[in-house]
Amino acid sequence: MRTMERIFDIREDVLGAYYFRIPEIRLYWVVIGIVARAIGVSVEALTVVVLAHELAHAYTHLGHDIDNERWETERFARTELDIVEGLAQFYTQVDQLVCGHRHGGGGGAGLDTELLVNMF
Ligand SMILES: [Zn+2]
Repeated sequence: MRTMERIFDIREDVLGAYYFRIPEIRLYWVVIGIVARAIGVSVEALTVVVLAHELAHAYTHLGHDIDNERWETERFARTELDIVEGLAQFYTQVDQLVCGHRHGGGGGAGLDTELLVNMF
């Protein structure tokens, strides 16, 4: 469990990342595989949550709001990490709730998605 504690102590995106200047999403399969096994969920289920989180970053950065405004890349870069992560967490949680209900209420993959979503 020490390895897991060290992984979660890292405040950076360790399971995946959104590189906003490219823009590009990368998923780190080795870490996802290790973490999925350690917490007892499928690699696929954890991957869905990680991908939803990284897509939420991309959508909050590149998407247009109701006023057709976009988050300028330099302002996105200067925004406090807690705000950027909070928005991604919110949309990831909404996505998991919607998918969970659509697929029978079990989180879509028979796991506690709230636990997974709160890992980030
Ligand atoms: Zn994030």
